[in-house]
Amino acid sequence: MRRRGTGDSVETPGPTRRPRPGGRGQSETAEEPPVRHRIVAEKLPDGDTLKEWHMVRGDEQLTMCGRELDPRADEQSDEAWGTETAHPFCHTCGALYLRETP
Ligand SMILES: [Zn+2]
Repeated sequence: MRRRGTGDSVETPGPTRRPRPGGRGQSETAEEPPVRHRIVAEKLPDGDTLKEWHMVRGDEQLTMCGRELDPRADEQSDEAWGTETAHPFCHTCGALYLRETP
């Protein structure tokens, strides 16, 4: 990867909020921002052994199946869903996640 030129070296990643053009005109596209999911590890009481992975909606504390996990637990992006990396996976979370994701 090459950087070109000078100047804008830093591009802020992440969602950019666009100000809504106010006034008239109703937007017909009822497009909701996609919910960011993440996958969080549940460990066995020994704190070391992985029990299973759970799905958490981005801004929530509890897993989708209603567990509260250690905030320091391992995490991965929901792109790992369905792969070896996120195995074994909580059945409840998996089912709920499937319902929410097209
Ligand atoms: Zn779960």
